[in-house]
Amino acid sequence: MDFKKARERMVREQLIPRGIKDPRVLEAMRKVPRHLFVDEALQNQAYSDRPLLIGEKQTISQPYMVALMTEALELKGDEKVLEIGTGSGYQTAILAELADKVYSIERLRSLSQKARKILDRLHYFNVVLKVGDGTLGWPEYAPYDAIIVTAGSPKVPEPLVEQLAEGGRLVIPVGDPYTQELVKLVKTPEGIEKKSLTICRFVNLIGKHGWKESEY
Ligand code: SAM
Repeated sequence: MDFKKARERMVREQLIPRGIKDPRVLEAMRKVPRHLFVDEALQNQAYSDRPLLIGEKQTISQPYMVALMTEALELKGDEKVLEIGTGSGYQTAILAELADKVYSIERLRSLSQKARKILDRLHYFNVVLKVGDGTLGWPEYAPYDAIIVTAGSPKVPEPLVEQLAEGGRLVIPVGDPYTQELVKLVKTPEGIEKKSLTICRFVNLIGKHGWKESEY
């Protein structure tokens, strides 16, 4: 399979027609080898229009969802970004292409370790990974210019709002375990502005300010 051609087709058929416009986002989606973030048996499906399983009952998000969430962060290149839910590390790599530094938290050690290997192999040295509860954020490196949560939460975790810089953007799916609203929050001097981007379905964000493990 010609993966480069598959990526080009993914951008042309799944992203541009649905309104993804930021040329830097489209370029990153053309560049990052998504097939290397999934198991070998799934590599020929890596550029299809859907999420895929990555082990531990978790998923790598649909390419369009990755592009939409990334575009909403409005990255120019000099930002400090916090990601909650490293998963396969694919979204992390896209962020690493577009920002200065990426801090990413994953609650499952095995996924974080796998992601570290592939991110190192691809020379994404501007990424710092941690295993833990991302609903608490990562106060040591706050404030962040952008925060992305790639798991569905019953509410916006307060620590993440606190750790957002003024002018910063936070993108997160909020709702019940079956459907969520993808929301974008912007921290302004007057308060938090909120905009709804789409309806989506993510795996659960499990932690102190998300779902309790016993609830799912
Ligand atoms: N962005 C990932 C990618 O590109 O592969 C997909 C992430 S997957 C949809 C959501 C991830 O969030 C899962 O790997 C899950 O273990 C993780 N997660 C759930 N709750 C978490 C929490 N409180 N802190 C950190 N990670 C969490």
